Amino acid sequence: MQEAQQQMLDTIAAEARYTADYTGRSRFSPAVMQALGEVDRAAFVSPAYRDRAYDNGPLPIGDGQTISQPYIVALMTELLDLTPDSVVLEIGTGSGYQAAVLAQLARQVYSLERFCGLAETARERFTRLGYTNIEVRCANGYNGWREKAPFDGIIVTAAAPDIPPALVAQLKPGGRLVIPVGPPYGYQVLMVVTRDAAGKIEQRKVLGVAFVPLIDDGIDNGDEAGRSKQ
Ligand code: SAH
Repeated sequence: MQEAQQQMLDTIAAEARYTADYTGRSRFSPAVMQALGEVDRAAFVSPAYRDRAYDNGPLPIGDGQTISQPYIVALMTELLDLTPDSVVLEIGTGSGYQAAVLAQLARQVYSLERFCGLAETARERFTRLGYTNIEVRCANGYNGWREKAPFDGIIVTAAAPDIPPALVAQLKPGGRLVIPVGPPYGYQVLMVVTRDAAGKIEQRKVLGVAFVPLIDDGIDNGDEAGRSKQ
């Protein structure tokens, strides 16, 4: 691992300590930190930003979108409480970095991205890097991916105006949805929604965050995710 990437991990660990009062976790699990060490963020940014690949901040990835801040990637991954058997759905593939981190920890990752160009670039990256447990579709993810449901974890990497009911419905008993909720470019809060074994839904607020908006263009293509247009 490059020294800059080790510094990125140190920064994440420090920020986990500062935010412990909000998140309830002063240290992220060794498995999550190891996954962050194994995925090279530089492989997910364009050459123009490669010298900033390990900065603890978002970076542009085209189409007006961003690769998320590494600390937030770590936190959201941590909050999913994945096991090697988990099946995860991500909404907002973007660069593919978050999906790659999830793929280190889970059995299978499904990811939806509404910009087909970004989805294609991410898919090429996964092939080049040898990932065989990530499936990407170009689609509006607001209604999830019914064909592949239910999921142990669902992670939304764009801010939703509300908690999409279809995503809650696609959680397994014991499953967790990690999602930023709030208006576009306004006050957004990271939330964890859990469905317990009896089907009871609980939600908790974790931390104030700043995400690009989840765009719901009204297309319900949850059954046939590949059908959507850009
Ligand atoms: N997880 C990404 C971060 C992506 S930023 C990474 O690791 O790089 C959020 C992404 O969500 C953007 O790529 C955006 O195009 C996508 N997005 C926004 N609304 C969406 C929707 N309704 N369905 C699927 N993807 C969406």
